[in-house]
Amino acid sequence: MAKYKVTLIPGDGIGPEIADVTRKCIEATGLDVEWEIQNAGAEVMEKEGTPLPERVIESIRKNKIAIKAPLTTPVGGGFRSVNVALRKSLDLYACLRPCKSYEGVRSRYEKIDLVVVRENTEDLYAGIEFSKGSKEAAKIIKEIEALSKHSIRPDSGISIKPISVFGTERIVKFAFEYARKNGRKKVTAVHKANIMKFSDGLFLEVAREVAKKYTDIEFGDCIVDNMCMQLVQKPELYDVLVLPNLYGDILSDLCAGLVGGLGVAPGGNIGDKAALFEATHGSAPKYKGLNKVNPTALILSGMMMLRYLGEKDKAERLERAVAAVIREGKDVTYDMKPHRDDPTAVGTREMGEAIIRKIKSQK
Ligand code: NAD
Repeated sequence: MAKYKVTLIPGDGIGPEIADVTRKCIEATGLDVEWEIQNAGAEVMEKEGTPLPERVIESIRKNKIAIKAPLTTPVGGGFRSVNVALRKSLDLYACLRPCKSYEGVRSRYEKIDLVVVRENTEDLYAGIEFSKGSKEAAKIIKEIEALSKHSIRPDSGISIKPISVFGTERIVKFAFEYARKNGRKKVTAVHKANIMKFSDGLFLEVAREVAKKYTDIEFGDCIVDNMCMQLVQKPELYDVLVLPNLYGDILSDLCAGLVGGLGVAPGGNIGDKAALFEATHGSAPKYKGLNKVNPTALILSGMMMLRYLGEKDKAERLERAVAAVIREGKDVTYDMKPHRDDPTAVGTREMGEAIIRKIKSQK
């Protein structure tokens, strides 16, 4: 029996192409792994009536570890997003997004090394919403007017922002534990506590309490608007950022932009019982089957998976190989060339093969 059994979701659009390359790169590190392939997404929806059959969730629950290529969210069908549904049903409460500069990736910045830890389950993304003009919205408006001195215009739509002690404690602890395990020096909590005193204010208060237990790691906090400016002006002052869901979503894209964009941004969604690694980008349907797109983000998500499994040497070997191929700039996809129509650009598969050659030459 293999040491690890990992659920592999090939996804749709460009998913299967980058998933195949990623699988081969991980295998090239020598990881003793057996893959349990689970299809999900738009095509599965046609055959099985749902884009996320229970068997997929069960497989991840059982194996506790999964890697997933992007899934197209079918329009209609009652699904807001397959990705959100997966995170919810497995309680993957931490979204981890390392944003690191690799020499050779075109970007306005260099030497960025930030980690965004985003809370995945609460906040304005909890999905508690009431549409304008609905009976429920009218009831809530009336109740709020009775409970507070505020009036709400009757033609308002309403989204609720819950932030709890439980949810904050576990995400801030996660950020500190991550910092400790990965030799990081500082955790910064990002919020808007000056305005939203009972939701963001609670987030900050709880974060400060948790920080007291981690005296080996520096703690700071920053108001989200100021944080955006600081990240653009002096990103080198920051290390691990921990944020509620909405700010986390926005700042992870900002940080991905600092290091060269979606093609190189990996991620992990992690809970206490399971972890799912995936690229930040989507299924880019227009490139499906063209062997064209950049596999880096999913390969680096695989690198994060290796680290999570405690396979540090293999993770480092994979990361060094990716970094070397990007630095050399020869066997890279079109988006990493100086011009997008550069005829020397290679395909997804060929970039993967170059990475595998580098992994093997390091042995
Ligand atoms: P997208 O990330 O799929 O594509 C946006 C553009 O980014 C593409 O047209 C392409 O130019 C570029 N791009 C993306 N990945 C690339 C890569 N690996 N290499 C080179 N260029 C790349 O975003 P979208 O068009 O908004 O979404 C398409 C579908 O993906 C939607 O159905 C959406 O719901 C889904 N989606 C899934 C995930 C996920 O599975 N986690 C995340 C985001 C979007």
